[in-house]
Amino acid sequence: MTMSVAGVLADTAAQRPNHSAVIYESEHFTYGWLWEQARRYASVLRANGVRPGDRVAMLLVDTPQFPAVYFGVLAAGAVAIPLNVMSTASEIDHVLTDADAHFLVCSASLLARASKEAEPLGTVLLTVGPGPAGTVDLENAAQETAPIDDSAVREPDDVAVVFYTSGTTGEPKGVMLTHRNILYNVERMVTTPYAFRSDDVLLGCLPLSHGFGQICGMLTGFRAGISIVMMPRFSGREALALMTKHRCTVFMGVPTMYFKLLDAVAQGEQVPRLDRVYSGGSALPVKTLEDVRSAFGCPVYEGYGMTETSCSVAYHYPGLTFRSGTVGVPITGITVGIARPNSDRIDLLPAGEVGEIVVRGPNVMAGYLGRPDITAEVLIDDWFLTGDLGRLDGDGYLSVVGRKKDLILRGGYNVYPREIEEILLGHSAVAQVAVIGVPHPVLGEEVWAIVVPARPEGVTSGSDEEIIEWGKQRLAAYKYPRRVEFTDALPMGSSGKVLKRMLVSKYESTAGSSLCG
Ligand code: ATP
Ligand code: MG
Repeated sequence: MTMSVAGVLADTAAQRPNHSAVIYESEHFTYGWLWEQARRYASVLRANGVRPGDRVAMLLVDTPQFPAVYFGVLAAGAVAIPLNVMSTASEIDHVLTDADAHFLVCSASLLARASKEAEPLGTVLLTVGPGPAGTVDLENAAQETAPIDDSAVREPDDVAVVFYTSGTTGEPKGVMLTHRNILYNVERMVTTPYAFRSDDVLLGCLPLSHGFGQICGMLTGFRAGISIVMMPRFSGREALALMTKHRCTVFMGVPTMYFKLLDAVAQGEQVPRLDRVYSGGSALPVKTLEDVRSAFGCPVYEGYGMTETSCSVAYHYPGLTFRSGTVGVPITGITVGIARPNSDRIDLLPAGEVGEIVVRGPNVMAGYLGRPDITAEVLIDDWFLTGDLGRLDGDGYLSVVGRKKDLILRGGYNVYPREIEEILLGHSAVAQVAVIGVPHPVLGEEVWAIVVPARPEGVTSGSDEEIIEWGKQRLAAYKYPRRVEFTDALPMGSSGKVLKRMLVSKYESTAGSSLCG
């Protein structure tokens, strides 16, 4: 087993140099090319002062240049800090300052957003593609530079990548993942039946700056020697067309992508023949999972994890008996417990009880960069406290009930939004829904459902009451939504998750006018 993340690519390049690692705009980039390009980039980075352990931020579009730079940074022994391409100038500034990154490698097309932030910090700016005077064009310089012979030696507990979390619940946090953390999950996923097969072709549409796309998609895929069709901007129609064109065997995405794929299928687009699909990142409603399974005629494997656990904790995989409403079983060597919430020590609860999901194993992060205070709140006695609520059944299957922060406290009762969302999705007028708690003077919080209608033209003055009635008939009196609001789209973060905190702040101002029972 390779001991550094750069070794993932080095090993596969040695074993199958002529196999396509990446397909982008119909061009094929082999493993041999990719590793050579990465080593050329490592050479240029070194010539520009990058030393082992230095932090190098990356703001790159998801083209073959992303893995080339990423593995170049790692081969040089530096720490990669991938930034989401959707980041605003102030978010870039936050990460550069927070991570104290002295280098930034940026796609030339994104330079306008980054250069203003990088200059005052004294960050050394390198571009991929021609940039203005004073910047180094990595691509150009690499043509005249010999590749480095070997990667810099890294220890398993050295930090390999700092990922910023999705920022779903607040300010993104810099998660330090070591080579050991990342490789543990990559090796487990490659050696269990979850495995990509070496002849698999994956549609790579998840952002590579995010752990799900980078670790579960790119790194696990490269370790297995698969080909990845890159798609920097997701659209349901285009995804279907690309998968058909390149004979993709596997799709991996977040639930929002599945909504869009189903939409495109409903509009009559050709459906590719897939072998299996994987979902993660947020809860895949049971109804959506079933719709995807019948639209594509293949199994759907849902997994669960977070940036802090090198992205995977539990999963369904081929050969494991599917259990609806669960995210499968913990990955070998990773222990999942359910702890009594809000207790200052870890007090594990028996099977069947709902509590906070806690995780222990070699995949758990080294800590939040520069934040020992918040690290100490989530790493207790070797357990990582996920901030999610869930339950384990007697056979070890994990169900995720929702985030602690999304829990609604209505008149002294706990209301778990996901349960309500699953029920409301059963109503034919509801395409997507987010259930939130809106402040209420007497009850503390009231249950609201924010609905994207299946057919916007079908929404009439009585549609909200119909959906409320649907909930009332199927849910306990304290759970069903007392108010339904329609919207064209739910606010999404850069990794495709609904930002409930934005919905709460949007609707709390109108809460005064709501008549709540
Ligand atoms: P932040 O920590 O900045 O608020 P985030 O938690 O969304 O953002 P990520 O690390 O990308 O950042 O996401 C991990 C979270 O996503 C998990 O803690 C969990 O809440 C949610 N999640 C992931 N997979 C699933 C799943 N299959 N079912 C339900 N929730 C999931
Ligand atoms: Mg989180």
